Amino acid sequence: MAVRSHNQKRYDLHTHSIHSDGTNTPTEIAREVSRLGLGGFSLTDHDTANGWTEARQAAAKYAIDFVPGMELTTTFGGRSTHLLAYGVKPGDSELEVALEDVRRHRETRAEQMVDRLKQDFDLSWDAIFKNQTITIGRPHIADELVRLGHVRDRNEAFEKLLGPGSKYYVPTKALETREAIELVQKAGGAPVLAHPAAVRHQNSISPLELAELIEAGLVGIELEHPENVASRVPELQDEATRLGLLVTGSSDFHGTGKTNRLGECSTPKQVVDQLREHMRVKR
Ligand code: AMP
Ligand code: FE
Ligand code: FE
Ligand code: ZN
Repeated sequence: MAVRSHNQKRYDLHTHSIHSDGTNTPTEIAREVSRLGLGGFSLTDHDTANGWTEARQAAAKYAIDFVPGMELTTTFGGRSTHLLAYGVKPGDSELEVALEDVRRHRETRAEQMVDRLKQDFDLSWDAIFKNQTITIGRPHIADELVRLGHVRDRNEAFEKLLGPGSKYYVPTKALETREAIELVQKAGGAPVLAHPAAVRHQNSISPLELAELIEAGLVGIELEHPENVASRVPELQDEATRLGLLVTGSSDFHGTGKTNRLGECSTPKQVVDQLREHMRVKR
């Protein structure tokens, strides 16, 4: 294979670490990004910027580029919709206040799910909620169910016990997508729609809905993603081109928590450069 020059290098713009529901540290991800020959990566833990400092230091150590990011859980037309937010300025923004609320609510919700599960399984909340600084989610409950031998892996936990159809399921509170896009913009970030045609979404976003999100300030769409259904992508690609959206590709790596492989989908550096024009915090 031809060696790519620096300008042709590709980035993985969607990864999760132990600061949310990934299983690797930001340093381990940075090392692997470098080993794979990628130009850089973004850490996009759920609803938090807690991993950025370590990721930045590790990126410098391994001579790769770092793009600060996070993934917000939002709701649009009754559907759970994930929004990537790149380069927001941390601190005193409305976004930060909203995220604190979301993280607090995630804890209440996870505790409610554990209470329901406790009726049938020998689970302990303390074993799950070990670390106050991480964004808690269903994957952490899944890991404890795996540890206790009730299920084989996270996927089985989601399929049998933690999905929306389950009696143990409690919905999570989320920002409305257009409101989240506006808060990200106000905080100096670049909002990008995550995996808009993922398998678990019954119907992918329509062209009309996409136009509404652009109106709110959306700048990009993640069309290359392991979970996007291939047959739904061309229509969205046409819309993205027509509406001038940036198109990104990323793996959504979660370590051993998911089968997604780091770098299996990626974004060309030229697109990262364009994304950076919208970001207040560029590295
Ligand atoms: P939550 O944030 O609590 O709603 O949980 C959603 C998270 O669980 C997503 O960000 C995924 O990373 C993870 N997840 C969802 N479905 C699965 C699955 N089948 N296997 C492994 N992880 C999953
Ligand atoms: Fe996740
Ligand atoms: Fe997601
Ligand atoms: Zn993700």
